[in-house]
Amino acid sequence: MLNPEALQEFISVVGPQRCKTSPEDLLTYSYDAYVHEALPDAVLFPLSTAEVSAILKIASARGVFVTPRGAGSGLGAGALAKRGGVVVSFSMMNRILEVNPANRYAVVEPGVVIAEFQRAVEKMNLFYPPDPGSANVATMGGAVVMNAGGMRGVKYGVTRDYILGLEIVLPSGEVMRTGAVTAKDVTGYDLTRLLCGSEGTLALVTQIIVRLLPKPRARRTLQAIYDDLDDAGHTVAKIIEAGIVPATLELMDRTILKALEDFARLGLPLDAGALLLIDVDGDPQAVEMQASAVAEFCRRQGARDVRVSR
Ligand SMILES: Cc1cc2nc3c(=O)[nH]c(=O)nc-3n(C[C@H](O)[C@H](O)[C@H](O)COP(=O)(O)OP(=O)(O)OC[C@H]3O[C@@H](n4cnc5c(N)ncnc54)[C@H](O)[C@@H]3O)c2cc1C
Repeated sequence: MLNPEALQEFISVVGPQRCKTSPEDLLTYSYDAYVHEALPDAVLFPLSTAEVSAILKIASARGVFVTPRGAGSGLGAGALAKRGGVVVSFSMMNRILEVNPANRYAVVEPGVVIAEFQRAVEKMNLFYPPDPGSANVATMGGAVVMNAGGMRGVKYGVTRDYILGLEIVLPSGEVMRTGAVTAKDVTGYDLTRLLCGSEGTLALVTQIIVRLLPKPRARRTLQAIYDDLDDAGHTVAKIIEAGIVPATLELMDRTILKALEDFARLGLPLDAGALLLIDVDGDPQAVEMQASAVAEFCRRQGARDVRVSR
């Protein structure tokens, strides 16, 4: 139970509108994508690093537990206030502060939704590869702190590989910066990488410097259908062995195909043993060559049907 004086101090920082304590509001913040539930005593919605710092100073002085929260799509109950206290939601710190095409970086607040960020930079011919399946709701802050990966992980790596620096607030309320906007930032301890994947245990992330790539100029998607799951597996091995690194490579067996079809009615072949979904991307000429080579591997390994997107 939150001490009423502590609650008043939190309200003095964020105002009554951005401090929620009603049972129905607290219920909304009592779960994530995992099975557990835990009610916080209050949910706070800061708008700035200064407010986050003030919240942590109060919490630290009064011994109140603090649980940071992005979109609550995590699968590990990390965003739950298991010991009560306050949830600090970053949903209102959701601005893209800077996109710098010349130096290929961006600066974002933690509440920016991943897919919205990807769309924004793609309009400028830039590319942010990490794409967890939750990208349409999950936040950049949540992805940093969980070091989220995704379907493009084999070729492009995970969130940690794209974070150049962070602004964080320590439990004491002290604001600290790690990393830099330059690639050549090599001396000293790599605190940025330590914080990526720290699951909210070390600090609250209030700003993120993101490394961007040029947007791939071409992309082809291939779908190969197999009667036999083993043949699909052998195709994957052959593709990798040949030195081709697809942007995504997803193998679905009959059980997954049925589950997908039940859910989305896509017209998937339910009599198939397996389906391979393969994306290749890069320069147009290389992509054409890779798509043909991959299609050939699929056929040679026994695919009964191979389709290449145009
Ligand atoms: C349908 C679905 C598909 C998914 N697919 C993938 C996938 O393909 N690959 C993959 O790696 N993961 C995947 N995930 C899990 C993925 O890790 C999370 O969805 C995402 O990283 C969490 O982001 P969020 O904004 O929802 O964070 P939350 O769930 O709100 O929080 C996650 C953790 O980060 C902490 N946190 C949040 N914001 C901050 C902050 N600003 N500062 C400090 N700590 C903070 C929280 O306390 C918590 O511990 C998937 C999840 C779902 C539900």
